Amino acid sequence: MIPHQHPISERIGWLFELAQRHATEYASAEAWLARKRYRANHPTAIWVMKCMDGRINIPIATQTPKGIIQPFRNLGGIFRLGWPHLGETLVNDMEAVVNAGRQALVMVTYHYSKGDERRGCAGFHYRTQDAVAHTFEIRAEMGVLFGAHHRTVYPLVCGFETDEEALVIHGHLGATLSMADLTEADLDHLPQRLMALLPDMPTQMRHDLLPLLAGNLRHIARLRQMVRTLDIEHREWMLCVGRGFDWLHVPNIALIIGPYSPDLADPIRKAAGIIRANMRAGRIPSDGFMVMSSVPYEDIGVDRSRAMLKSNFMADFAAETVRKDFPDLAPLMTVRKTVLNWHSRQVETLEPPV
Ligand SMILES: [Zn+2]
Repeated sequence: MIPHQHPISERIGWLFELAQRHATEYASAEAWLARKRYRANHPTAIWVMKCMDGRINIPIATQTPKGIIQPFRNLGGIFRLGWPHLGETLVNDMEAVVNAGRQALVMVTYHYSKGDERRGCAGFHYRTQDAVAHTFEIRAEMGVLFGAHHRTVYPLVCGFETDEEALVIHGHLGATLSMADLTEADLDHLPQRLMALLPDMPTQMRHDLLPLLAGNLRHIARLRQMVRTLDIEHREWMLCVGRGFDWLHVPNIALIIGPYSPDLADPIRKAAGIIRANMRAGRIPSDGFMVMSSVPYEDIGVDRSRAMLKSNFMADFAAETVRKDFPDLAPLMTVRKTVLNWHSRQVETLEPPV
């Protein structure tokens, strides 16, 4: 059960228990083997560039095991590959992928609601066409960075329709394929349809994209069985800054902002505005919200020290932005600074909590 309406202290307690449960499960022999096996069967690295909006949760919507999809999040799914930190992060991550002889599929996503345009992307002022246009700009920049033929890194533009949590694949010559239009019976022919839709995608990648699409079909079918008017509205009460929030495998409680934009204050202000609107509309309790920073580290020693400094900085920066621009929210704010052991996925709270 997700405690959407509980007092803030209980919600925070629940959250850190969730983090602990995730780390325990992630470290288990069963999960470790499952990830190894998944990667052996599907060697393509899968990255998703997406909006910070809490409703966008691609691993859940595609029923993909935890730890397979690597997320990049920002306001509106807006990314410029020339942003200094983003460009370096992408290139570093790509080197690791290529050194292992793998390819990378980068899902460049926008989101919209088929039922009401006001449930679309606040980052684009609900103008879906602008959001779509931006994903194609990212795709073009990916071509500049990693090659226009996309043999190693393939940027795939995808829509995410939040009412049904359905993926929409944008393919060759403007063709699109929405998972919401398919049924289980179409699964057998999906490989052929993908070949026609994405003729320039390397065969291995198409093979590795299939389980995500099949998972999305099952997910859509499951959602259609449920009554879920509330879930398609915003209910976020966490403002997260940094990376490594994969353990937060719960939709619609957090706005996650990657540390990429040179103007970090802008997405933080937008996120604080969404949380305030959630409180005012009564979608979440108005007794408090949390600012949380997370920075992954791979090695103990200097690498962990660097992560701690960065986590401190980002949480302080976010908190200061809230105090300055949302003075009414400031007394309701709880700040938690964390680093994440990347190998064990253990969340470590930096003491003392602020
Ligand atoms: Zn959005």
